[in-house]
Order: sequence, then structure tokens, then C-alpha cells
Amino acid sequence: MRIGVYPGTFDPVTLGHADIIRRGAKLVDRLIIGVTTNPSKNPMFTPDERMDMVNREVANLALDNVEVVGFNALLMTFAERQGASVILRGLRAVADFEYEYQMAGMNQQLNPRIETVFLMADVGLQPIASKLVKEIALFGGDITRFVSPAVRADVVERVEQIGRMGD
Ligand code: ADP
Repeated sequence: MRIGVYPGTFDPVTLGHADIIRRGAKLVDRLIIGVTTNPSKNPMFTPDERMDMVNREVANLALDNVEVVGFNALLMTFAERQGASVILRGLRAVADFEYEYQMAGMNQQLNPRIETVFLMADVGLQPIASKLVKEIALFGGDITRFVSPAVRADVVERVEQIGRMGD
């Protein structure tokens, strides 16, 4: 059985992530979405909130071979523990390439039995980034085109809690 891990922060999960999940689930028998619980990125949502959001998106996609698991370990250690032979990553533009290339290269040396596979989201979804979704929402912009309605409601609610920026 081929098991793949798709790791990320998912703060919050976007339509770009959902598209990668949908594509990735076709390539492996079991897809584990690894939601990092590492607080170093100063996320807007707690690990549990992010996992709930991802679980909801997976339910919307009606995929039955996808599971959401939190992790706070070296990615290769997590992947090995899950019995994965493939790491899935999404590639957006040139900006992602250098970081992803370096990480895949180092991970290859850490564990040569696990391959990193890059997927491209649908062209229209490629520019979407969680960081920008948060920035747009913090300044009162409309994020409808970038996240699902449920995630949009969560982000808007969180922005109201922490306070909007700008005038
Ligand atoms: P990280 O914190 O590791 O950047 P993210 O949650 O931002 O994690 O993203 C997880 C993965 O999803 C990364 O491989 C990232 O490149 C990919 N990804 C995010 N948004 C998109 C998108 N719009 N299209 C394709 N891949 C994406």
C-alpha cells in the first residue's frame, strides 16, 4: 500500500491546498495530511482549529482515503512513523521553488527511501497563499475566492476577535 504525507501549516487551509489534496489522494492509496503543531510560525489558528478546518475540507471533498494527523517532529521522522513512501508538496511559482528544492534535497539525504513529489494546483488557484489570505482579511478585504465559505467564516471571526487593521 502506497502511503503519502502532505505536510503543511494550513493556517488556514485554502482552495489551493484543497486542490493539492484532491490531486494527491488520487496518486496514493492513503494520504495523510500532516498539520504541523510547531508554534514557531506564530499561526492565526491553533493546531486543533487548523486540523478541524482541514478535516472539514476533506469531508467536503468526499475523499475516503485521506486522514488528518497533527505532528511536531522532523518531517522525515513523521513520514517514516506513518509508513509513508512519498511526501507530497504543492509548487506555486518560482518563489516556492528554491525553498522546496532545498528541503527536498536535504530530506532525500535524511531518508533516501522517501521520495518528494511536487504537484501543481489548478492554474487559477496557484497564486493563493495562506499568508496573503490572512493579510487581506486583516485589512478587511474579501477572501471569498481563496478559501471555502466555512474557512472564510472562521477567518472573519478570528479577525474580529483580534481586531482589524487599517482604516
Ligand atoms: P508551509 O508552512 O510548509 O509553507 P503551507 O500550509 O503554506 O505550508 O503549504 C503546504 C504545502 O502546500 C506547501 O507545499 C505549499 O507549497 C503548498 N501550497 C500552498 N498553497 C498552494 C497553492 N495555492 N498551490 C499549490 N500549492 C500550494
